[in-house]
Amino acid sequence: MTSERRPLIVGNWKMNTTLAEARILAYNIVHLVGVPKDVDVAVCPPFVSLPIVAEALRGSPVALGAQNLYPAESGAYTGEVAPNMLQGLCSYAIVGHSERRAYFAETDEFVNAKVRTALEYELTPIMCVGETLQQHDADKTAEVLRTQTMGGLVDVEDVSMVVIAYEPVWAIGTGVAATPDDARDGIAVIRSTIADARGQDVADSVRILYGGSMNPQNVTSLLEQPGIDGGLIGGASLNAEQFIALVRAAEEHERE
Ligand code: PEP
Repeated sequence: MTSERRPLIVGNWKMNTTLAEARILAYNIVHLVGVPKDVDVAVCPPFVSLPIVAEALRGSPVALGAQNLYPAESGAYTGEVAPNMLQGLCSYAIVGHSERRAYFAETDEFVNAKVRTALEYELTPIMCVGETLQQHDADKTAEVLRTQTMGGLVDVEDVSMVVIAYEPVWAIGTGVAATPDDARDGIAVIRSTIADARGQDVADSVRILYGGSMNPQNVTSLLEQPGIDGGLIGGASLNAEQFIALVRAAEEHERE
């Protein structure tokens, strides 16, 4: 990775942790994290735990992120959370996670609205893209990645402010991560798509993470690949020791 792109390790807690569990997990992470050298770290707990986790993270280098947002300030959107409710509380917002695309029918257009909204409210969007197993087996990975990347970045003025996570859907929560070569190739497609549309300098400035069953065993081989700027981590982020092992691996990689 180029020296300008700081690695980023993000925990996506998904729909896990009660309030009490979220507080304990956050405190354990803060206790173990120390002062990460040249690595950014963030956790994305469920919405209801954001204030409690913010309290636990206060004064620590670990940033807070939301798992989603709705692209409107207020209104009749029962159950949704607006960007102005997150502004000042969170630094990041995950958008377009494959679970939202699959279970809540989120389109590239809707993901794009969320990316633009996040930026408007000073939240760094972590935009997830990735192919399903069917698309992978049909050799459609590059096409899907190009479509989702372009679709999500429509009318985004400063693309360098967006973090992208390449998450092959078949690797999420399965225990079967992409091979380092596949992860590298997917990320290369995303970066070249941005380069074609916005120029190489912009493409080189965008942090692109890998996500999908990343764990302390496979993290180093993934981070060793050129172009992989960190990880978006689900399962392993629910265990403070495992999550911090990923942070340590990213630090180690940066040092080399
Ligand atoms: C995710 O949900 O973004 C993810 C990568 O999950 P896991 O690490 O559990 O595969």
